Amino acid sequence: MTNPLLSDWDTPFQLPPFEAISDEDFAPAFEAALSEARAAVQAIAENPEAPTFANTIEALETADRSLSRVLSVFFNLAGADSNPAREALQREFSPKLAQYGSEITMNRALFERVATLWASRDMLELTDEQARVLMLTHRSFVRAGAALEGEARDRLAAVKERLAVLGTEFTQNLLADERDWVMELAEEDLEGLPGFLVDAARAVGAEKKAGGPVVTLSRSLIVPFLQFSPRRDLRETAYTAWTARGMNGGATDNRAIAAEILALREERATLLGYDSFAAYKLETEMAKTPEAVEELLMQVWTPARAAAEADAAKLTEMLHADGINGDLEPWDWRYYSEKRRKAEHDLDEAELKPYLQLDRMIEAAFACANRLFGLEFRALDLKAYHEDVRAWEVTRDGKHLAVFLGDYFARGSKRSGAWCSAMRQQQKLEGDIRPIVVNVCNFAKPADGFPALLSFDDARTLFHEFGHALHQMLSDVTYESISGTSVARDFVELPSQLYEHWLEVPEVLAEFSTHAETGEPMPKDLLDRLLKAATYDMGFQTVEYVASALVDLQFHQGAAPADPVARQAEILDEIGMPRAIGMRHATPHFAHVFAGDGYSSGYYSYMWSEVMDADAFEAFEEAGGAFDPDMAEKLEKFILSAGGSEEADVLYTKFRGKMPGVRALLKGRGLLDAA
Ligand SMILES: [Zn+2]
Repeated sequence: MTNPLLSDWDTPFQLPPFEAISDEDFAPAFEAALSEARAAVQAIAENPEAPTFANTIEALETADRSLSRVLSVFFNLAGADSNPAREALQREFSPKLAQYGSEITMNRALFERVATLWASRDMLELTDEQARVLMLTHRSFVRAGAALEGEARDRLAAVKERLAVLGTEFTQNLLADERDWVMELAEEDLEGLPGFLVDAARAVGAEKKAGGPVVTLSRSLIVPFLQFSPRRDLRETAYTAWTARGMNGGATDNRAIAAEILALREERATLLGYDSFAAYKLETEMAKTPEAVEELLMQVWTPARAAAEADAAKLTEMLHADGINGDLEPWDWRYYSEKRRKAEHDLDEAELKPYLQLDRMIEAAFACANRLFGLEFRALDLKAYHEDVRAWEVTRDGKHLAVFLGDYFARGSKRSGAWCSAMRQQQKLEGDIRPIVVNVCNFAKPADGFPALLSFDDARTLFHEFGHALHQMLSDVTYESISGTSVARDFVELPSQLYEHWLEVPEVLAEFSTHAETGEPMPKDLLDRLLKAATYDMGFQTVEYVASALVDLQFHQGAAPADPVARQAEILDEIGMPRAIGMRHATPHFAHVFAGDGYSSGYYSYMWSEVMDADAFEAFEEAGGAFDPDMAEKLEKFILSAGGSEEADVLYTKFRGKMPGVRALLKGRGLLDAA
């Protein structure tokens, strides 16, 4: 019998034949597709004909077509509906894929063909898009070290290998420190804690066989504890342990590892010919240079710090009113801030929830896409990989654009969080290939017969992921490698974060946030309180984040610090870090930066995206409102359909007429007055 993953899919819209696929099919399909991809790559490298764009770059685009088809089904299921067999397969596939990736970039014959094309690019009569794909392909080979010879080549390989080992050790040490620490709570220590936190503390205590409720260093437990516990001594103990993760001495201490990682990254950048690791990392981003990032962060830092200092003064008064003398400490901030929030912006989730029905929020996301881009959504009656998955056909003017799958409910087999993935990406190299796009969320599933209700954060997540989906569905490029969301990391969150703004448009909420029982729209007063609460304590949140982003950036510029923790203290001193606020992530537990390479000198990118989404939505408001048709057309033309076909700053400038400024972000965060 043929393997359903490898045969042609004779299904509606050529969706994967989920019902025919069993877990036993994945390993043989993976091995066959991987061999096929290897053979295809080898054939390109050994082609006796002179290199052309078609026989080399386009051939590379399609070399792993069946492999990516198998993997797109597999990784979707491994994330959204896993089981032990799929977990084992994932562990088996990952190193093989890493090996395959480095075989390609270190294949000398193949790189020579790419380099030959690159050298003669001006004579090749390429389209703009082809020139872009050639540049990106060549650059990714060079950045991986393909152009290095002899000793430098060997040393780079050794450096990368050592970095992979250190990244894993860093993560494991951090997990060990988080796992080992618990603080047992006596019954009287629970006083003042809300019910959900008491339940969680008891549940974790039972799981750890502690004989009673406990606090651990998991963010979901310790943050609410610091927020709600009136016991200053316990808050101090918990906070101190939390911020000491990775620096407790002994076998799990991360400080020496962090220093070695920074030194090796500097060496890696030097081997590749860059001034610094930050320069190497930012070359492929919209920001392009460390200087541009620093300038943006400092524009946000100054007003955020001023707002935080003003808040600190208010919180200190509250501390003194409790009869405690002395300074506001980092373990006090969340507690007094929560008290102040309650007094100034009390917002009852229970009052809000009936107005946010999942089905109506899906309708709202679709209706906005209809008004902005003319998209229409037709529910499809088909069975995807799980009974909770819903499917729609997306059309415009009767023309098929995409299949959209929505997998909204939490279940044990789904990893946490929310994401957007494509089971098939848009491209035109092999015909008019339209995408299959999936949004996965973790909303609570209601009991039978009841409507699913969302929190406001959930509704925001739904719009966020749908913004990513639009980036895939409206994609209109020839090459898959630059299709849809295949853009710079500091640009990829623009469509998603921008789309969140439409949820807050009053006419959208007025139409779609209707009460589950009465059908009445959300009262204006509740809506106003909701929107106002969203900017509460933004000085603190911005300061703890930007401090981490600045430290990350500085670590990767110039000579690597021998003692990163000491260097971190210097940097915080230079920027005037408020004493009662800690970094969101400090060096010995800054996993974004040290567990791998994903966010090293890239932690800034969350803020960068937020600056852009605020600025981009302001463009709509300036032009005539949230549904301004000219701006919608520009958004589709220059951003949502364009994928990675041009540099992100060029695309953004075409859409907006200028590069983004921080004003709209400061306004959105309520920090403009402090600026
Ligand atoms: Zn996102």
